[in-house]
Amino acid sequence: MEEEKEKLMKAPDKSRFKTVCVFCGSSVGKRQSYGDAALELGRELVSRGVDLVYGGGSVGLMGIVSREVHRGGRHVLGVVPKSLMYEEIIGETVGEVKLVADMHQRKAEMARHSDCFVALPGGYGTLEELLEVITWAQLGIQDKPVGLLNVEGYYSGLLAFIDKAVDDGFIKPCERGIVVSATSAPELLQKLEDYVPLHSAAVAEASWEAE
Ligand code: AMP
Repeated sequence: MEEEKEKLMKAPDKSRFKTVCVFCGSSVGKRQSYGDAALELGRELVSRGVDLVYGGGSVGLMGIVSREVHRGGRHVLGVVPKSLMYEEIIGETVGEVKLVADMHQRKAEMARHSDCFVALPGGYGTLEELLEVITWAQLGIQDKPVGLLNVEGYYSGLLAFIDKAVDDGFIKPCERGIVVSATSAPELLQKLEDYVPLHSAAVAEASWEAE
């Protein structure tokens, strides 16, 4: 009884997000902490009752986070371009797979099916996906929160670059807050829950999708 009460007190509040989109490396990286962070993020999503959208497949950090969310009983949607739909490229996907025509459609679908974006450590692919949703938030095309899981300072260089761009007049100071960051998944998810969008209303979805 006491144990149950303690568990309830420790459980984070249910999320305002139904589905979170995770961008992350198709490699695991060279530090154990990257894989640990992917696991922790997966557990945090499960404990908040949140579903996952991601790029599909079982490789790298993508595989770790998707398996953990799936194992925890939440819905997992992998959005995969037809050209990548080979097991030797993406591995086996858990949960539901949505096949799309190309990389552009993949990003649009991942955004459409989620209420929030989180980036774990990753390479070019992760950066490209992340910077696109940041730009969409800047332009008011979408108003969903964007968070960086800054594992062992992995994103400190990018955050310093963003600060430099603000200082040097390429990003407005009020736009600095678009990028939320934290060093642990629970802290990041809480910040994202509390995020107040820069623009009060997003431009109609139709405006950023190809006809
Ligand atoms: P990267 O950070 O360069 O490893 O790229 C990871 C991101 O790009 C993911 O969020 C995916 O959407 C996409 N991506 C890159 N490589 C793959 C792959 N082998 N299988 C599935 N998605 C990938």
